[in-house]
Amino acid sequence: MNRCDELATCTEEPDRLTRPFASDAIGRADEHITTWMRAAGMTARRDNMGNLRGRYEGAPGSTATLLLGSHVDSVRDAGKYDGPLGVLVAIAAVQALHDRDVRLPFAIEVVGFADEEGLRYGTTYLGSRALAGTFDEAELDRADARGVTMAEAILAFGGDPNRIADDRWSGGTLLGYCEVHIEQGPVLEARDLPVGLVSAIAGQSRHSLTFTGVAAHAGTTPMGSRKDALAAAAVFVQAVEAYAGSHEGLVATVGQLIVQPGAANVVPGEVTLTLDIRHAVDADRILASERLLDDAARIATRRSIAVTTTQVSDNASVACSPRLTSSLSQAVRDLGHPAIQLASGAGHDAVVMAGLTEIAMLFVRCKGGISHHPDESVAEADVAVAIGVLGRFLDLLAAGQ
Ligand SMILES: [Zn+2]
Repeated sequence: MNRCDELATCTEEPDRLTRPFASDAIGRADEHITTWMRAAGMTARRDNMGNLRGRYEGAPGSTATLLLGSHVDSVRDAGKYDGPLGVLVAIAAVQALHDRDVRLPFAIEVVGFADEEGLRYGTTYLGSRALAGTFDEAELDRADARGVTMAEAILAFGGDPNRIADDRWSGGTLLGYCEVHIEQGPVLEARDLPVGLVSAIAGQSRHSLTFTGVAAHAGTTPMGSRKDALAAAAVFVQAVEAYAGSHEGLVATVGQLIVQPGAANVVPGEVTLTLDIRHAVDADRILASERLLDDAARIATRRSIAVTTTQVSDNASVACSPRLTSSLSQAVRDLGHPAIQLASGAGHDAVVMAGLTEIAMLFVRCKGGISHHPDESVAEADVAVAIGVLGRFLDLLAAGQ
């Protein structure tokens, strides 16, 4: 908990926690984490993308590696636990081995991912994509708000942008990747449980819709002859809420509307909006997309205006490994807690790591389900449970269970 507080002081902005990719703030956080990794008997290095990689060697002759970790970067005005908690819990579990002078029949690599949130370049999972070997080098040309390209930022942070391919995992057999993360939702709190297992990470569809009516004078255009794009969009927003609200496990959000011309005295002629749909079952998500886009078309037709839709992204849900999750569940039960499973509505580095190896995730209860906010909060006792569970999980894997 003290370490989470300490990392929270590593920020780009004086009064709030903002820790973007390849910033001085993340550099300072990495220095702290490196010290803690070394104290836990690990070697630590940073790869070209800026992932901090701490390695705790296994017993002599061991060849496989288990990956643990989470991300070190943050959103703007972030909380203290989203990301860093997973890195610090992993280090604490390794520290417990080191303190007992125990070497497992596999090595452990704890990764502090360089970028998960995508704050600086608007593109997420830079760190895990480099490690999983799925980073697209065309993205190196992206510029941040100050015009600094990703390649320049990587160079300034000590990495070689021409050698991102070297970051891809090349250390032999992987046993899997396990990530501890705050839940970012209310389920564990409602069930009065310190931790829970993630069954799957929800798939996500993102669409952009544009309703096009006719901009007109707000004073002289009678109500009956308007083609108000925003009024149509408003009906659509309600339809989205109603549909998601009546389908189990589905969440759908209109998070952004751009209203044109956007003046108090003009009937809105055009509205472009975003639609984000998530479900742990891909078929349900795809059906919801179809139904809601049909609704948009119907709403537009009824009002004699036009609507165009574009799919922005389509990410399938990612299932957690039954084998690793079963060991993790056993570890939770061994510590005397019920092991429940829940789907993650938020994306995580584990999504990308699933392309490289089997994944498992442990959620830690967070107060009020609040995240991406300075009020983000976890209980010390729950963090202790998470450290204990991860330690027990390592024992079970070492015993081949
Ligand atoms: Zn996170």
